[in-house]
Amino acid sequence: MSDAVKKDKCIIEEHTPWQETTLGGVVTSSGNAQYYKTGGWRAMKPIWKEDQCKQCLLCWPTCPDSSIPIKDKKRQDFDYDHCKGCGVCAKVCPFNAIDFVVEGE
Ligand code: SF4
Ligand code: SF4
Repeated sequence: MSDAVKKDKCIIEEHTPWQETTLGGVVTSSGNAQYYKTGGWRAMKPIWKEDQCKQCLLCWPTCPDSSIPIKDKKRQDFDYDHCKGCGVCAKVCPFNAIDFVVEGE
């Protein structure tokens, strides 16, 4: 049995043998994004402009991927391992403190 199945979350990893994947590759449990760097799918990328940020935290609850870390009640830079580049955070920021650019530029 692979490590993927031992994690008891029906996780399909890069090296999971096909015999141990779920039927149709269906993801059957939540919370397994922690095992993947899903940011690799990103085509667009948010850039935090810390000097313009007022720490209002409006961006934080809107992120569908929990990719805006909070420490000591203040937002930190993006978790680019998991940000998928949807752009919602840049849209909601009332202080223009998040640029949204093409990945790799
Ligand atoms: S919404 Fe904008 S100003 Fe508010 S915390 Fe986020 S980046 Fe900073
Ligand atoms: S671009 Fe989307 S996924 Fe990335 S931090 Fe902003 S809201 Fe979250």
